[in-house]
Amino acid sequence: MPEATVGAMTKKILLVTGASRGIGAAVALAAAREGYRVAINYVSDHKAAEKVAAAIEKAGSQALIVKADVAREAEINRLFEEIDKKLGRLTHLVNNAGIVGRVSRLGAADPAMIRQVIDLNVTGAILVAREAVRRMSTAHGGEGGAIVNLSSAAATLGSPGEFTWYAASKGAIDSFTLGLARELAKDGVRVNAVSPGLIETDIHASGGEPDRVARMGPLIPMQRAGTADEVAEAILWLLSDKASYVTGANIRVAGGR
Ligand code: NAP
Repeated sequence: MPEATVGAMTKKILLVTGASRGIGAAVALAAAREGYRVAINYVSDHKAAEKVAAAIEKAGSQALIVKADVAREAEINRLFEEIDKKLGRLTHLVNNAGIVGRVSRLGAADPAMIRQVIDLNVTGAILVAREAVRRMSTAHGGEGGAIVNLSSAAATLGSPGEFTWYAASKGAIDSFTLGLARELAKDGVRVNAVSPGLIETDIHASGGEPDRVARMGPLIPMQRAGTADEVAEAILWLLSDKASYVTGANIRVAGGR
């Protein structure tokens, strides 16, 4: 089935949370090249978000930058209201914003940091999906759509000694993806997950371990870390009509890990 377009302007409207850097930025740009109009969400790095928006406009599509902390319900609501007003009814979501917290064993971990990770990676992701469902689902008067949640290979590895709470947050995303996929299967919305392994982004430095990729890369079966663009490829496929019979799936992009 051809992707729907209105004149030159596509009807596909995608929100990528955490799209200023890393995997989110790669997804936003790849999607723009495929004709999506893209809402770029970020929380602190405005300059980085502006760079992504400029690249999207250069690729001939439309970008909307929205600063919002997607761990907070009021900010999630404002994010979606802005998209409704400025881009139109959302058709696609990549639930990507996520943090690991600070690398440590559990006994030394700060409870406030653990809460922050769960608030964003679990509660935030679920509330973002809820707002998307209210726009996409035929049960809510929408025309259908597709959601991709960012899980992690950590969900099945457990991340011992590094960030077990983060692994647990991604295990929650796996269960949520499966449940929501089955709940929405008859309502025109496909829901899938992608589980990256070790990917070269800033997330490792923000967890307090800037050398993590260099240290762990050689230990991966493919003997290297992956790139954000390699993860974006799988996400774009799941969003597209090429994956029209795929829901509740979880694609591991982890170099054999
Ligand atoms: P990253 O490079 O650290 O980028 C994180 C993005 O999320 C940034 O755009 C950041 O915005 C945004 N963000 C952080 N907190 C936010 C909040 N409260 N509200 C809104 N946006 C927020 O991360 P990444 O490595 O690309 O990871 C993206 C996703 O993939 C995450 O869910 C992560 O768990 C998952 N993943 C990553 C890896 C990996 O090895 N990199 C592996 C498995 C899974 P600012 O720029 O404004 O700070």
